[in-house]
Amino acid sequence: MYKSILITGGAGFIGSHLVRRWVSLYPQTKVVNLDALTYASDIDNLKEIENKSNYFFVNGDIADSLLVAKLFELYDFDGVIHLAAESHVDQSIEKPMNFANTNVIGTLNLLEIARKTWKDKFKGKLFYHVSTDEVYGTLQETGSFLETTAYDPRSPYSASKASSDHFVKAYSVTYGMPTVVSNSSNNYGPNQHVEKLIPLVIKNIVNREPIPIYGDGKNIRDWIYVQDHIEAINLIFNNGERGHKYNIGGDNEIRNIDLVNKIIILCDNLLGRSKGDSKSLIKFVEDRKGHDYRYSVDSSKLKNDLDWYPKTNFEKGLKKTILYYLKKFGVV
Ligand code: NAD
Repeated sequence: MYKSILITGGAGFIGSHLVRRWVSLYPQTKVVNLDALTYASDIDNLKEIENKSNYFFVNGDIADSLLVAKLFELYDFDGVIHLAAESHVDQSIEKPMNFANTNVIGTLNLLEIARKTWKDKFKGKLFYHVSTDEVYGTLQETGSFLETTAYDPRSPYSASKASSDHFVKAYSVTYGMPTVVSNSSNNYGPNQHVEKLIPLVIKNIVNREPIPIYGDGKNIRDWIYVQDHIEAINLIFNNGERGHKYNIGGDNEIRNIDLVNKIIILCDNLLGRSKGDSKSLIKFVEDRKGHDYRYSVDSSKLKNDLDWYPKTNFEKGLKKTILYYLKKFGVV
């Protein structure tokens, strides 16, 4: 049982689900959420736990070494679950330095302060790094990413995440720090910033605004419901082999255009519009620079070793997600 955990990025999309789950699942564990509250965050998503006695929020930057060192001293962390990141590929194309500062330097700062505070005495300690399948690059029609697939990042976002993954591995190999890395596919669900594909499409349907689709819309992503990702993190945190990495996928590959059409049908139905009414909003736009064609994640290791399976049926998860955003936008 870990007595004190630092979760970074807990006011973001995935982090908000993780913090809420951790605070209620482990009432004996102090859960400290360090988040810089960037534009992508929403602290209101943590309202239901803000008064819990085992929850502590700190507004700050993971790259601030004085702050992070002070927190390690104050809370005596024995575990870290690191999610804080700049996470949007389009933003990384515009502002790559932000991605290097947070995703690379910020991660290295956390690792270094953990190493120094733990004084190389790592028994009972864990540094868990949450990463993405995008570090593996792009696939054509066949094949899937394995944990052994060579890294081939192609956007500033994936390059920064790949770099942070390598630093985590280096701390495991060089210093013997107990670490785990998990590489998940695209998450969907409540609490995601509207810059991301699914909430953006829903917002634009509601407002009858153009739905931008990159290129021909045939790019393929593998979608996982955020709660299934959280359950995987929980299992890996407790039972994953230290020094290992685990792929987490949704077994749910779909072309962007097909996903958008699904959302249109579900949204139109829930909004009482005629079937396919919003199809005319689709607008194909110039492709994203360096757009990866296909991601596909093979999670056999996680399934075989830790008996994890993505439980959420895609249609049900998508409908739940759409209802959440329609309520948030005040239209149902
Ligand atoms: P998000 O953008 O929704 O949230 C990121 C959070 O990190 C925000 O609350 C933000 O305020 C915080 N943050 C950013 N810079 C910070 C800094 N310098 N110091 C402290 N806090 C900072 O991202 P997300 O989608 O929840 O992703 C969380 C993690 O999971 C990221 O590491 C991301 O790379 C990884 N991941 C995401 C997905 C996905 O589909 N969303 C898939 C695989 C992996």
